[in-house]
Amino acid sequence: MAMRVLGELLQRGWTTLLGLLAVLGLCALSGVVILELRADSWARASDAAMNLNRAVGQDIARTLGTLDLALQETAERLRANERGDHERLLHSPLFERSIGARNIGAVMILDAEGRALDETGQAARDTVSYADREYFRVPHDNPDSGLTISQPFRGRRTGEWRLALSRPWIRADGSLGGVVVASLKLDYFLEVFHGLDLGAGGRISLFREDGILLARMPAGRVEIGQDFSRGTAFRAIPTAREGSYRSISSRDGVERFYVFKRIESLPLILNLGLSIETIEAGWRQRALAIGGTTLALAALLLLTIGLLRRELRRRQVAETAARESEAQFRLLAENTGDLVSRIDRHGIRTYVSPSAHRILGRAPEQLLGRSANDGVHPKDMPALNTEIARLRNGSADEVTITFRTWRADGVEIWLESTLKVVRKEATGEADGVVAVSRDITERKMLERQLDRLARLDGLTGVANRRSFDEAIGREWARCMEAGMPLSVILVDVDRFKAFNDHYGHPEGDACLRVVAATVGATIRRAADLVARYGGEEFAVLLPETEMEGAHAVAERLRAEVEALALPHAGCLEEGGMVTVSVGVATIQPASCRAARGPEALIGAADRALYAAKQAGRNQVCQAPQLDPLNQMAD
Ligand code: GH3
Ligand code: MG
Ligand code: MG
Repeated sequence: MAMRVLGELLQRGWTTLLGLLAVLGLCALSGVVILELRADSWARASDAAMNLNRAVGQDIARTLGTLDLALQETAERLRANERGDHERLLHSPLFERSIGARNIGAVMILDAEGRALDETGQAARDTVSYADREYFRVPHDNPDSGLTISQPFRGRRTGEWRLALSRPWIRADGSLGGVVVASLKLDYFLEVFHGLDLGAGGRISLFREDGILLARMPAGRVEIGQDFSRGTAFRAIPTAREGSYRSISSRDGVERFYVFKRIESLPLILNLGLSIETIEAGWRQRALAIGGTTLALAALLLLTIGLLRRELRRRQVAETAARESEAQFRLLAENTGDLVSRIDRHGIRTYVSPSAHRILGRAPEQLLGRSANDGVHPKDMPALNTEIARLRNGSADEVTITFRTWRADGVEIWLESTLKVVRKEATGEADGVVAVSRDITERKMLERQLDRLARLDGLTGVANRRSFDEAIGREWARCMEAGMPLSVILVDVDRFKAFNDHYGHPEGDACLRVVAATVGATIRRAADLVARYGGEEFAVLLPETEMEGAHAVAERLRAEVEALALPHAGCLEEGGMVTVSVGVATIQPASCRAARGPEALIGAADRALYAAKQAGRNQVCQAPQLDPLNQMAD
C-alpha cells in the first residue's frame, strides 16, 4: 500500500521535488550543525583568550601594583623625612618583600637633577645623571603625572632589558624633591607568558597604551620598544577597555584572532592572538567529516531516486506497451469472425473471443478456464496431440490442425485452428498459444462431395474405373493378408453397337443406366463394389468370395438383366432383348508370386468374358482355376 502511494507520487513527477527537498533538508541540517560547531569553536577560543588575558592582566597588575605601592610609600616617607636615611629606607623589609624577593630589579631615588641618591642592591653610589631618562623626565616635568611607565631600555650596567616605573617625590614644602624609580626586568613578563598555552601560532603581546611594545611571546626582542601605534594591529584596537579583532600578521603572515584588554588601572594593553588555523582545526576536521558524509548521503539519495525513477519509467513503458498490445489483440480478436482463444501453458483457455457465440453456440465465459481439448472429437485427438507436441518441444512455432467438435446444439462441425506460440517478452520463454479457429464444416462437406463425385461414374452413378482400380489394389492386399480369395466379374452388354445404331446414343445411355442399376441391385455385401469399367462394360469386385459364390452372383446378374426384357431391335436374330455376357475369375492373392497383381485377375476375367461372347453371348463363363505355379495361366 505504502509502496503504491510512493509509486504514484513518483510517477506524477514528484520524484525530483521530493528528492531535492530531502537532499536540501539534509544539506541544510548538516550546514546548521557545521556552523554551530564553528560558532562553538569560536566561542570556546574567545572565552579561553579572554580568560587568559584576564588572568595574565591580573598577575601583571598585581606585580606592578605592588611596585607602585612601594614607590608611593617611598615618596611618602621621603616627604615626611626630608633629610632621611635613604639607605635604611630602601633596605627596609617592605622593599625586600616586594622587590628583592622577586628579583625584579632595583629601586632608585633620584634628586631633582636626576642624580641617584640611593639604589637597592647597589653598595656604591654613582654620580651618573639619569636626567635624560624618560622615567625621570616625565615625573620631573609634570609632578602631577602619577605613575610613569617607561619605554623598555637596556640597563646601563647589566645590559638587560628593563622597564621603569617612576613617581615624583614632593618635599613637605611642595617643591619637587626628585623621582623614585623601580626598574623591572622584561624577563618578568616572559616568565608570566611562558606558562600560557596559546596553541600553535598563538601570540601574546604587552603594549604600553601609546603603542610601544613591552614584551611579546614568542619572544622577538628586536621588536621591543618599537612603536606599534601606527601598525594595523594597534590601529584596530579601539579606545575601549577590551575587545577583539582579526588580523593577518605582517611579520609571519599568520591570521589571528586577537583579544585585547587594558590592564586594570595601568596604561598597559595585553593583546592575545590565537591562530585562526588552530582555532578552526578541530572544527574543520569535523566539518569535513560531516560535510563529506552529508554529500555522500545526498548523492546516494539522488542516485536511489534516479534509479527508482528509471525503473518506474521502464515499468510504465512496459505496462503501456502491454496494455496497448493487449488492446490491439482484443481489437483484432473481437472484430474477426474467427474464434480467437488464448491458451496458457497448461492448455487452459484464458481468453475466448465473442465469436464463440456464432461458431460454437456458446458464451466465451462457458469456455474460459477449461481445457482447450474439451469437446474435440476423440478420433482427431491423436493428430491434435502430435501437433501440440511439436509446439511443446519447440520444433514448430506455429501449427494448423483440423478437427471435429460439437456445437452446443449437438451438431458436429469441423474446425481448423492455427496455434501460434506466445512468448514472454522479457525472457522469450513459451507462454502458451493463441489459437485462431475457423469453422470449415461447409468446406469439408464440399470436399467430401467432390471426392465422392470424383469416384463415381457420371453417367451411371456407380463407381468409376479409378475407384475400381483403387479398390482392387486395396482388397488384393487385404485378402492376401487374410489368406482369403478375391473374385472379379466383368460384364459386357451384348451387341451394344447395334443398339446405339438402332435407337441412337441417348437411348444407349439410358440403357446403360438401367443395366448399371440392375447390376448394382444384385450386389448385397457392403465390401462388394460395382464399377463402370469401360464404355458398356461393368466390373464387380467381390472380396473374400470363392469361385462358386462369384459364379452365382454372375449368373444372377446376367439373369436379372435378361429378366428386364429390354427390347433390342438390333439383334432380333439373337432374341431381340438386351443381354449381357459375363466373365468370372477368382484368385488367392496369398498364393501368388509378388509380381502377379490384380491385372492377372482382371486379365483372367476378361478372357472368360471373351469366351462367353464366343460361346454365343448371354451367358457366364468362368476362368479356369488360376494356378500360381503355372506360368501358362498368364
Ligand atoms: P459385343 O460386345 O456383343 O461383341 O458387341 P458390341 O457391339 O457390344 O461390341 P463393341 O464392344 O465393339 O461395341 C461397344 C459399343 O458400345 C461401341 C459404342 O457405340 C457403344 N458404347 C460404348 N460406350 C457407350 C456409351 O457410353 N453410351 C452409348 N450409348 N454407347 C456406348
Ligand atoms: Mg464392349
Ligand atoms: Mg458389348
